[in-house]
Amino acid sequence: MTSPVSDVSFKLDNSFARELPGCYVAWSPAPVAAPRLLYFNRELAGELGLGLDAAGTDELAALFSGQALPEHVAPIAQVYAGHQFGNFSPQLGDGRALLIGEAIDRQGRRRDLAFKGSGRTPFSRNGDGKAAVGPMLREVLIGEAMHALGIPTTRALAVVATGEPVYREQTLPGAILTRVAASHIRVGTFEYFAARDDRERLKQLADYSIARHDAELGDGPQRHAQWLHAVAQRQSALLARWMNVGFIHGVMNTDNMSIAGESIDFGPCAFMEAYHPGTVFSSIDQHGRYAYANQPGIAQWNLARFAEAILPLLADDEDSAVDIATGILAGFGASYRHHWLQGLRAKLGLAGEPAQSGADDQRDTALAEDWLALLQAGGVDYTLAWRRLADAAEGRPQPLHALFADGPALQAWLARWQQRCAIEPSHATAQRAQAMRAVNPLIIPRNHRVEEALDAASARGELGPFEALLDALRRPFDDDPQLARYAEPAPTEYTAGYRSFCGT
Ligand code: AMP
Ligand code: MG
Repeated sequence: MTSPVSDVSFKLDNSFARELPGCYVAWSPAPVAAPRLLYFNRELAGELGLGLDAAGTDELAALFSGQALPEHVAPIAQVYAGHQFGNFSPQLGDGRALLIGEAIDRQGRRRDLAFKGSGRTPFSRNGDGKAAVGPMLREVLIGEAMHALGIPTTRALAVVATGEPVYREQTLPGAILTRVAASHIRVGTFEYFAARDDRERLKQLADYSIARHDAELGDGPQRHAQWLHAVAQRQSALLARWMNVGFIHGVMNTDNMSIAGESIDFGPCAFMEAYHPGTVFSSIDQHGRYAYANQPGIAQWNLARFAEAILPLLADDEDSAVDIATGILAGFGASYRHHWLQGLRAKLGLAGEPAQSGADDQRDTALAEDWLALLQAGGVDYTLAWRRLADAAEGRPQPLHALFADGPALQAWLARWQQRCAIEPSHATAQRAQAMRAVNPLIIPRNHRVEEALDAASARGELGPFEALLDALRRPFDDDPQLARYAEPAPTEYTAGYRSFCGT
């Protein structure tokens, strides 16, 4: 089981380790009792050019539990800090994760491969460094769902059961996840060095990040300000995508925000069922800091912490630096609203219109917000409502009406929407419905289905429900009657009582 993987080529670089001494410690994965492969994404492995086509499950289990890493691979635990629920922790770091290296994928992009659950590190504090099967398979489901929805995200390459128990509120089976990310550089990574006033490392880390994610900015004197702008732009676009699809991250601490603009660290995340801006599922988010509607504001708050951390790089004197940062962050709201509205326009079947004026934006924002208010008033399922609006675009409003108790209010809004649609004659009716179905998913990771699948895997070792759900999540826009059970909302009582956990 733990024989070296000598007959597969598995070449990884580690530019982070090479270029950024002092930002990590070299560390090895812990031995595990009985590695067993639960999940492996062959397509993703192919995209990464890992040369694992011929590898068997035992080999993969040994490899992706860290038991048989090629000799040239030298994993590291990255250091970072972070604001958790608003409070600054000056030292966090990879307490149960290791960066094993970087693959250059088929498109020439450098992508991190990292373990999660691979044992204690110098940053583990009181944690055991471990992860459980359920939460790691959850990362697979959410990451693949986000990817299929076209939302920038980290993805799972492999999950290996360790054959060892993990002690939480209950005893759970242990697992190690291999995660693929554009990078694991977080807002908190910069906060760590800023808090120590280590400007040299701060600058090295910034320039490394620019070279890796924003190389087009070059090395001019304004690059750090331009980079802050680029990072903020990416976050505003990402947040709009989350909001458009009803995703609630659940733990938007600054250590869980990627500089690369990917969705990362799915702990207690969950998708909204009935539309309500105040929706919170996370058991630890007692005051609703990370509630659905708060997310764009929190992203901006996190970016302000990021800007503070890199302030010394923006200008020589602090006042100028603050002015620069403030100016850039002031643009976040407008950028977010732009992306949000563009997303909602597409969802409303209005993507065909060429140019928009400020007045058009106001009209469409009002149309979208009034629709959301209707959903909220009726406690209507967010995902299903959009899908049935596409039916209405084809002249079949009955399925939509069936979701709403207040028929006249819906009728009045539909009349406005149809008037608005008529301004876009280029979009024929059938095309509109089709276009709407291509952006409004039918299948999202609904909490009851996710829990059902994870429970079967974790408690009974049955992977069938997980695999079936995964298959459905990879086709979110398909109207396949065989997938109907994944499209149904959870019973209201289920959602009302649903709590998600960090999985630590
Ligand atoms: P999270 O909120 O899950 O992103 O984790 C926050 C911090 O806690 C990070 O530094 C993690 O590495 C650390 N952490 C979470 N779970 C564990 C664990 N079981 N053992 C050690 N460190 C952990
Ligand atoms: Mg984290």
